[in-house]
Amino acid sequence: MCSPVGHSLAGAIIYVAFNKDKLGIRRNWKGYLTYMFVANAPDLDIIPGMLKGDINLYHHQITHTLFFAVVFVFGVYMFYRLRGKEANFSVLLAFFLLYLSHLVLDYFAVDTRPPYGEELFWPFSKNYYISPVTPFLDIVRGKTLWSAINAHNFLAMSIEVAVFGPILLLLLWYRKLHLRGERRVNLN
Ligand SMILES: [Zn+2]
Repeated sequence: MCSPVGHSLAGAIIYVAFNKDKLGIRRNWKGYLTYMFVANAPDLDIIPGMLKGDINLYHHQITHTLFFAVVFVFGVYMFYRLRGKEANFSVLLAFFLLYLSHLVLDYFAVDTRPPYGEELFWPFSKNYYISPVTPFLDIVRGKTLWSAINAHNFLAMSIEVAVFGPILLLLLWYRKLHLRGERRVNLN
């Protein structure tokens, strides 16, 4: 699995890709935070384990499946409908990609605990899938959250920042440049 840092950066990248008019972090922090939270959401499966004294007990199971990604997007659609709003395709696509980004990142991360990988195609298949090439490190921890604070995990997060940080900055720069261009055209 990747760390929350990697997943959050992926969430921020998707936010910038889908919200070109709301890029300023200070003014749109709620949007950034929501996207980053959703990109981490599949790992909420550690909470029931935490309550039982072992955070790995239910980790990498149903929430790390494509089936659950679809269920999640349906939940988002219903959330909008119940609030009397229309969830347009772009919003639903963004939330699907957010959830998917989590599964993809974990797919490319080292997993040292059997069963290795994710049960991606559950309930149609009980096989676990993991990439043969894993550029991201695993997150080493014991049965508690505190045990995750260690040098190995710092290195894992540094790799994620080195990969996703430049992508985010480049995308922000590109978006702002285009936005400025569009505004100039509108003024003329
Ligand atoms: Zn995960």
